[in-house]
Amino acid sequence: MIVVLRPNVGTQAIDRVIAEVEKLGYKPHPVRGDFQTIIAAIGDETTHHTLETLTAWPEVESVMRVQKRYKLVTREGGKKETVIKVGEHLIGAGQPLALMAGPCSVESEDQVMRSAEAVRKAGAIILRGGAFKPRTSPYEFQGLGEAGLKILSKAKRETGLAIITELLSETDTDLVAEHADIIQIGARNSQNFQLLIKAAKTGKPILLKRGMSERIEEWLLAAEYILAAGNPNVFLCERGIRTFETYTRNTLDIGAVAAAKRESHLPVIVDPSQGCGRADLVIDLCKAAVAIGADGLLVEVHPNPAEAWSDGQQQLDIDGFRRLVEAIRPICLAVGKV
Ligand code: PEP
Ligand code: MN
Repeated sequence: MIVVLRPNVGTQAIDRVIAEVEKLGYKPHPVRGDFQTIIAAIGDETTHHTLETLTAWPEVESVMRVQKRYKLVTREGGKKETVIKVGEHLIGAGQPLALMAGPCSVESEDQVMRSAEAVRKAGAIILRGGAFKPRTSPYEFQGLGEAGLKILSKAKRETGLAIITELLSETDTDLVAEHADIIQIGARNSQNFQLLIKAAKTGKPILLKRGMSERIEEWLLAAEYILAAGNPNVFLCERGIRTFETYTRNTLDIGAVAAAKRESHLPVIVDPSQGCGRADLVIDLCKAAVAIGADGLLVEVHPNPAEAWSDGQQQLDIDGFRRLVEAIRPICLAVGKV
């Protein structure tokens, strides 16, 4: 860390700060200028006491970090790309684009089976569907719960698709882990750290949505919780953030995909459906996501969106999903995600 002292601080005060830096476990290297002194504090910021509290000292102007706060998630130190095995499939850098598709919510066996067969035929390898739904209003459909999970498992047995489904509460961890190949942590829970740790301990791959107002650093630190709990298999999922814009439900932060890929070795998935909240933009956002380097897409597809019990406005119908797969094919080829 770098400790910057205020201009014209006297020698005794400088020595006091140096002594404190040492006391906190760092090796101080003062650089004394004519007017201002800075102290380079050498030590592992992730294991030592933070020096940021020094900003409370009257002699100190600012304290700057040098190391990243997410030591496991960072790609620094030459870490190799994380490639995650889901069933027979490998997902991540150097692997084909992973298509995860299916309805927002599990509504019935018929709806899930029709969705599953159609998305599999079109090229999806993972079936999505929420059995526990985080709804803004308590009067909206909350999901079928365990009955929904059983429908997903049946669809898995009959189609061979792997399952991604959301874990909403710590209480349901074992139940969801029993049915899911990937546990989804939703935007609303992305900083529910106890839930992240509980989910991590199932050993299942975790898809971590970015919170609605989460900064990229916070998103990566949330992923750090999962890695620190001993589970290396995390997908980062960009799903749009809240902005002043009302044209779309959320603003899909496509730049965050590039940033996450640059900062981290974890695979990045894009969810264009929550990302914009309107079916007519989903294909274009998918093209952008693939072009910028996403490792997979999580897309809402419903056999009849007009009758969906949740998020009907943003779900593609089956023909729309086929068109999506066609539209991204040349881009996948161009970026080597085939
Ligand atoms: C969903 O995938 O249906 C969902 C609720 O996602 P998010 O947590 O991103 O809102
Ligand atoms: Mn949804």
